[in-house]
Amino acid sequence: MKMTTLIDERRNAIQLFKQTPSKIKQRANNDVSANLKTISNKGKYQYQTATSSNGNIHKPYIIPIAPKTDKSGKIFTKNPKPNSSVLVWCDCGHFRFNLEVALNKEDASRIISSNGAEPVKMNPGMKTFFCKHLTAAYKDYISRIKK
Ligand SMILES: [Zn+2]
Repeated sequence: MKMTTLIDERRNAIQLFKQTPSKIKQRANNDVSANLKTISNKGKYQYQTATSSNGNIHKPYIIPIAPKTDKSGKIFTKNPKPNSSVLVWCDCGHFRFNLEVALNKEDASRIISSNGAEPVKMNPGMKTFFCKHLTAAYKDYISRIKK
């Protein structure tokens, strides 16, 4: 596994949602419900999603983090804002095979379920966006952060 590249500005949730293809947004709207299970003391918004068409359950999460990376490592923010940078993850196959490594390159995901290899066939442009489960979770997440 390569070290993540340090970049000036990390990815925030609004950007990643904007970059999400409309097909995925439609599927998230029509087929996926997301319930917030817990917010951990490290600021992790842990969701459980249910897909009505096939009954699949997934467990995406969104962690709002400090906007800049420094050498001391990741800094979790206690006062998340809609434009806070995020660390995201989902246990679905779409995320694993298309998005985990691409998001990791932008410091927006950890390598957890993939083998860390670039998705040369599935996502050759290394585009970063949300899977439908994270898209569904995002809608709840952003409404809570705005309050
Ligand atoms: Zn997913």
